[in-house]
Amino acid sequence: MQPLSQDEIRRSFVNCSKGEAKSLSLPAKFETIDWDNRDFLGWRDPKARDRAYLVAMLVNGPVGLALRAAPERRSAMRSNMCAFCQVTHSLTGIALFSARRAGAAGRHGNTVGTYACADLACSLYLRGKRKPELRQTKESLTEQETIDRMLGNLDNFVEQALREDV
Ligand SMILES: [Zn+2]
Repeated sequence: MQPLSQDEIRRSFVNCSKGEAKSLSLPAKFETIDWDNRDFLGWRDPKARDRAYLVAMLVNGPVGLALRAAPERRSAMRSNMCAFCQVTHSLTGIALFSARRAGAAGRHGNTVGTYACADLACSLYLRGKRKPELRQTKESLTEQETIDRMLGNLDNFVEQALREDV
């Protein structure tokens, strides 16, 4: 993905207040982010385990979503497959994330949820830069095809979060 400045990232958030966007924790070691191997930026808040963030590149520019991760032990996980990259994980490698929807829908308490890689590092798994804990079933897709599929799934999730209807 195209590198983003810290300012661009903070400005991209659509489902939290300006104050929250201004104070949220950016990825640790920001200057070492490997943008070339990322299709979107996703990270857990190092200071708050239940908070996570993702910034996706949509046609009109970056869109950031603040996410809540369900508590690891109390949540009854119903899937161990990331809905974005379709990598399967052990229970500690997967998390159930929810995003408050943007605008009026969010103010009415509407959220969208998804299972995803707990570290939101889908791009790295698909490129073999990070190894999942479980052996994966072989697919007859090229690396680029799995990346394109992941981006489609991610776009769907972001679009759902952006939908204004209540
Ligand atoms: Zn994933």
